[in-house]
Amino acid sequence: MTPAASSFQLDRRTAVVTGANAGLGQALALALAAAGADIAAVGRTPPDATARSVAALGKRFAFIEADLNDSGGAGAIVAAVLQTFDKIDILVNNAGIIRRNDALQFDEDDWDDVLNVNLKSVFFLSQAVARHVIEGGRRGKIINIASMLSFQGGVRVASYTASKSGLAGLTKLLANEWAPHGINVNAIAPGYFVTANTAALRADEKRNAEILARIPAGRWGDPSDLAGAAVFLASSAADYVHGVILPVDGGWQAR
Ligand code: NAP
Repeated sequence: MTPAASSFQLDRRTAVVTGANAGLGQALALALAAAGADIAAVGRTPPDATARSVAALGKRFAFIEADLNDSGGAGAIVAAVLQTFDKIDILVNNAGIIRRNDALQFDEDDWDDVLNVNLKSVFFLSQAVARHVIEGGRRGKIINIASMLSFQGGVRVASYTASKSGLAGLTKLLANEWAPHGINVNAIAPGYFVTANTAALRADEKRNAEILARIPAGRWGDPSDLAGAAVFLASSAADYVHGVILPVDGGWQAR
C-alpha cells in the first residue's frame, strides 16, 4: 500500500458514533469499520443490524445506551466506552432530530428537544472525549454532522436551523481551541439523503420535485455517499484539516 493510501486506514482506532442504529449514523459506522476502526455506538435504540455488519467486517463493537436529550451523561458515556476499549480516537456526533412547524406556532418543547440533542449534547460529549484524548497525549478526530441548514435558513424548522447553524460555529470554535492539542474538529454537511429524517419531504410530491430539481447530481443522497468524507476526516490523511464544514450534497451548494 502506498503511504498516501495507508494514511486513510483506521486500524487500531476506536470510533464512537452516536445514533448508529439507523440512517446516516449506521452508514458512517460501517464506513469507519470497513476502514479498520472498532465501533462504540451510542444511542437509545439497540443497533442490532449495525452490530452484525461491524462483526462481519471483523471489527469489535459495543453499544452504550444513552438518551442524548440529556447532555449530563457525557462523562458516563466515555467511561462506558472505556470499559470495552482502551481508548477513543474518533467521535462522530451524528444523532439528531428535526421538528417542523411555522415559526409563529413553534413551541418550547420543539425548541428545547432539538437544541438538546443536536447541539448541547454534541458540545458536552465532544468536551468529554477531548479531555480523554488530551489526557492520553494522543491525536483525536471529531466529526460533526451538520446540514445544508448550517448555511441556509430553511422554512418551518426554526430549532433545527438554529442547532445546525450553531453546530457550524461550534465546529470552528472547537477546531481553534483543540488544534494545538492534536484534535481535528470538522463537520460533514449532508445534502438531501434518503433516511427517516427526510421521509416527510420525500412524501410531499411538490417539495420532492423542487429538491431534486436543485441537485446537480439529479438524485437524493444514499447514506453510503458519506463514506469517503467520513473516512478521510477520521484518518491521518486529514491531520492538517481543521474547522471545515464539508458539503456532501450532490452539488446543492454550488447552485
Ligand atoms: P434518522 O434516520 O432519523 O436517525 C437519527 C439518529 O439519531 C437515530 O439513530 C436516532 O436514534 C438518533 N437519536 C435521535 N434522538 C436521540 C436521542 N435523544 N438520544 C440518542 N439518539 C438519538 O436521521 P438521519 O437522517 O440519519 O440523521 C442523522 C444526522 O444527519 C442528524 O444529525 C441529521 O440532522 C443529519 N442530517 C441528515 C440529512 C438527511 O438528508 N437525512 C441531511 C443533513 C443532515 P433513534 O432511532 O433511537 O431515534
